Amino acid sequence: MTRRIGSGSLVIATHNEGKLKEISALLEPHGVTCISAGSLGLPEPAETGTTFVQNALLKARAAAESSGLVALADDSGMSVDALDGRPGVYTADWAERQWFEGEPGRDWFMAMGKVEGMLQAQGADVDRSCAFHCVLALVWPDGEQAVYEGTAPGTLTWPPRGTMGFGYDPVFVPKGRKLTFAELDPAEKHAISHRADAFAKLVAEQFG
Ligand code: IMP
Repeated sequence: MTRRIGSGSLVIATHNEGKLKEISALLEPHGVTCISAGSLGLPEPAETGTTFVQNALLKARAAAESSGLVALADDSGMSVDALDGRPGVYTADWAERQWFEGEPGRDWFMAMGKVEGMLQAQGADVDRSCAFHCVLALVWPDGEQAVYEGTAPGTLTWPPRGTMGFGYDPVFVPKGRKLTFAELDPAEKHAISHRADAFAKLVAEQFG
C-alpha cells in the first residue's frame, strides 16, 4: 500500500511562487500546509534526467533530503509522436534564447515554430498527434517515493491561435475539441489538462 502524506507540512520543490499558489490551492483543502523550496532557501538541482519521471524525482529527492520534510515536485512538457517524443524533457529548452532583446529569456513562438518546421519537413500528411505530460513525484525523507503521471492527448495546429495560457498552448488542440488550450476558458483547460489528470490521481490515492 502506498504511503500517505497525511496532514502536515509538504515542501513544494519549486522556486516559482505561481506554481506554489496553484498547488497549495489543490492540497490545502486536504489539511496539507505547502511551503516552497524557494522560501526555505533550498538549492535547485540541475534537471539532468532524460525522462519526466527522473526529473520530477530528482527535484523532490533533493528537497526532501535538504529539508527533512516530505517533498512534492512536478515536471512537465510536450511530446510529439512524429518527432519520437521530442521536445519532451527539453520542452522549455527549445524556447531558450540567450540574449533575447538584451535579456536572457524564452521565446515560445520560436519553440512552436521549431516543432512545426520539423513536422512540415516530414510532408503534408505527417501525423500531428502529440500530448502534454505532467509527472508528480512525492519523496519522503527516508527515500520512499510515489509517482503520479498525467496526460492530455491532442494534435498540433498551425498557425498558433489564442492568447490565454502559456508555453505551447496556442498550437495544442486537446482531443475532442476544436479550440486550442490558449483559446479555451482557463477553467476549462484546467479541468482537462495533464496537470489536472496527475493531481486527480495523487488526490485519489493520498486522500481518497
Ligand atoms: P517545467 O515542468 O516547469 O519544467 O516546464 C516544462 C515546459 O513545458 C514549460 O515551460 C512549458 O513550455 C511546457 N508546458 C508544460 N505544461 C504546459 C501547459 O499546460 N501549456 C503549455 N505549455 C506547457
